[in-house]
Amino acid sequence: MENKYVYFFGEGKRDMKALLGGKGANLSEMTNIGIPVPPGFTISTQVCDVYYKNNKTYPEEVKKEVDENLKKLEEKMGKTFGGEDPLLVSVRSGAAISMPGMMDTVLNLGLNDNSVQGLINKTGNKRFVMDSYRRFLNMFGDVVLGVKHSSFENALQNIKDQKGVQQDTELDENDLEKVVEKYKLIIKEETGKDFPQDPKDQLWKAIDAVFSSWNNDRAITYRRLNEITGLIGTAVNVQAMVFGNMGDTSGTGVAFTRNPATGENKLYGEYLMNAQGEDVVAGIRTPKTISDLETQNPEIYAQFKEVMEKLENHYRDMQDVEFTIQEGTLYFLQTRTGKRTAKAAVKIAVDMVDEKLINEEEAVMRIDPKQLDQLLHKQLDEVAKNDADEIAKGLPASPGGAVGIAVFSAEEAREKTQQGEKVILVRKETSPEDIEGMDAAQGILTSTGGMTSHAAVVARGMGKCCIAGCSDISVDEKTKQFTTKTGVLIKEGDFITLDGNTGQVFKDKIRVVDPELSEDFEKLMRWADNIRKLGVRTNADTPQDSEMARKFGAEGIGLCRTEHMFFDEERIKAVREMILSESKEGREKALQKIRPMQEGDFYSLFKVMNGLPVTIRLLDPPLHEFLPKEEKDIEELSKEMNVEKKRLQDLISELHEFNPMLGHRGCRLAITYPEIALMQTQAIIGAALKSRKDGIDSKPEIMVPLIGEIKEFEYLHKLIKETADKMILESGQELIYKIGTMIEIPRACLTADEIAKDAEFFSFGTNDLTQMTYGYSRDDAGRFIKDYKEKGILEKDPFETVDQKGVGKLIKMTCDLGRKTRPDIKIGICGEQGGEPESIDFCHRTGLTYVSCSPYRVPIARLAAAQAEIRNRQ
Ligand code: ADP
Ligand code: MG
Ligand code: MG
Repeated sequence: MENKYVYFFGEGKRDMKALLGGKGANLSEMTNIGIPVPPGFTISTQVCDVYYKNNKTYPEEVKKEVDENLKKLEEKMGKTFGGEDPLLVSVRSGAAISMPGMMDTVLNLGLNDNSVQGLINKTGNKRFVMDSYRRFLNMFGDVVLGVKHSSFENALQNIKDQKGVQQDTELDENDLEKVVEKYKLIIKEETGKDFPQDPKDQLWKAIDAVFSSWNNDRAITYRRLNEITGLIGTAVNVQAMVFGNMGDTSGTGVAFTRNPATGENKLYGEYLMNAQGEDVVAGIRTPKTISDLETQNPEIYAQFKEVMEKLENHYRDMQDVEFTIQEGTLYFLQTRTGKRTAKAAVKIAVDMVDEKLINEEEAVMRIDPKQLDQLLHKQLDEVAKNDADEIAKGLPASPGGAVGIAVFSAEEAREKTQQGEKVILVRKETSPEDIEGMDAAQGILTSTGGMTSHAAVVARGMGKCCIAGCSDISVDEKTKQFTTKTGVLIKEGDFITLDGNTGQVFKDKIRVVDPELSEDFEKLMRWADNIRKLGVRTNADTPQDSEMARKFGAEGIGLCRTEHMFFDEERIKAVREMILSESKEGREKALQKIRPMQEGDFYSLFKVMNGLPVTIRLLDPPLHEFLPKEEKDIEELSKEMNVEKKRLQDLISELHEFNPMLGHRGCRLAITYPEIALMQTQAIIGAALKSRKDGIDSKPEIMVPLIGEIKEFEYLHKLIKETADKMILESGQELIYKIGTMIEIPRACLTADEIAKDAEFFSFGTNDLTQMTYGYSRDDAGRFIKDYKEKGILEKDPFETVDQKGVGKLIKMTCDLGRKTRPDIKIGICGEQGGEPESIDFCHRTGLTYVSCSPYRVPIARLAAAQAEIRNRQ
């Protein structure tokens, strides 16, 4: 444990985020490199930890250090806390990982009935002082005393209505004084106590509130949704106030060094004159764009631009800043690495390499692989868009296309989504409470707020389509509808479509299509491919999927599930005929009907994957999956197949298993019915030979599922090899093929040295392997894994991320044992986890040959594999 609890700005640096939080660490860093930052100090995250552990109290040293630092701040500012020329401070939260808007901030702290008078005398600006005081009362009342924000809102609205004005800025000093008196009354009424006048008392109450906000519902939800774990708490920053609400030469804003939606290298941001704090983000007034500042105040703009450049060069990444102008003087209140869309992330990384700010490896490390999903998914179909009804246009705050029914509250968004609907969340503006609803929605539409409003920032972080500040619509959240300027009425449940790239809102549904991949994206992927050691294949059963995967860079098929081909209407008949046959001959006859169809399927896969390996797994699921379950379907089948219904029912109950996952499936089926494996081998080898004749370089790999005992494999290996070799010999052609096995039963892991004698490759089926290692049914585990995660028993769902400790140990052992017998054995993974970055890092470290994942995850895997190589290189 550090024995220092409080750091004056400048005592810390940027890499002390764990201790000072992101905001605090960067306020110190900015102070050190000469950026104009109002002075202040940071109470470390350790204090938050101690605060919770000590039943919400502080050690004496904390109090002492805060006092010392407050004194230092008073000296620096030449003002006194609660004095005639009062020091006012902000009390700001800030954890190691930024959680925008999730925790609390109090501004203008230190005002009371006394210091208000002092400040009026000092500034001669009563309007400003009253404006600051009413803001303070509101924030302190809301954040610290638990008075509903809406109570203040309503009181303010009343006073505005009485005066007949729209904007807060139209209220004069006397109006604001009335607001202040009203607010004090509200606090008294709702808490039963007077507003606390002692600044020290105010300060400690605010510090308590910020630490407490670490565990408020929205912060907890935000951490859960963003998988933020392992932090000890938030820091608290106490900082001298600067004022954007002193009149028309003052203002406040937020800005990015580059465009966070597109990545364009151009200052991007918004500001409001005569405003304070969150006014811009909260979307109360629609702000001006930063380019207006250039015309409005060229000197300030020039200074602003210079600092922005300095910050980006210093941090070597796109920065997201908060700033305030006080009577023509510019201050920076925060900088952090800016959240961005995947599109922007790729462009910025590639541009920065061109600008020689970073190198290719850094560029590769800059992109969160999971974020790439955004680039690979849904855009509106341009052709369909041309014919559609555009009903409104707003700001393109976060790209992509989204289609769904309009809903008007976060709860509804959640409920409707749970019922299987796709929804668009329509709000005047969103607030941090809406976060779960935003997560559930396909897209978000707001009528107020700018490109840096809450909705926009959160949506970009989630990779979700968002249109903000759409003033063409007026939203009525009570009656659940909105009307457009041109009079179109959209009610709850009506379909609308959003184009987050352009800001267009359409009536009805528009088709969504796969996106075009940008040149920047291809460039970044090429860098990743040059770096990575791990191969990337795909799990695909159809030519369409395979084509998509190949376009995304797959280097072969790692898993083709043949049973998916059995469900086709024509084929299922033959499959059922086989199951219903009582003799081997009958089964063979039925199987020979399926063979040409399978051969055709394999042929087209070989064709798409020309030159790349294609791993085909023999039939895996238990046979009852191919038979009907419903009475009416059984009846139909009995007619169709001309089999007595009773016999059919008997057969179905005969095939019933108590534990089908552990039952008659995988290689066990092929051992009972070798003719199935025989037919599938014939289809695979037949297709490979035929495609070779047509000039296609087919590379079949035949994979046996669910091996647990070497003799199972020996039996099937012999059958497959004899069948294949005979066909190849008879054809007079040459064909190299491989026979290998899935590794998905712990016993196979334990005896991998034996299995590797005949097996030319292993492929970890980590879905089954996880199921059997943990003993969790993968079809039922969802029910309790949620609780396990909530109670901290499991950090991650092992069906999503490889459990490195247990399952991982088996995987490692298998690799070691297998390679002892067959040093050049190819080892891959084809479970769901094969496309998940953390699991990919594990596969890289364990020395697997390749990972195989669904087509859309192929680029993610390529990037994650490159990152694993860089990360683990030392
Ligand atoms: P959040 O983490 O929610 O963004 P902040 O602590 O950054 O909260 O505070 C929100 C806003 O309050 C800032 O963007 C800034 O506009 C304003 N603010 C905070 N501290 C000060 C200060 N010392 N002087 C002026 N404005 C401040
Ligand atoms: Mg904020
Ligand atoms: Mg902030």
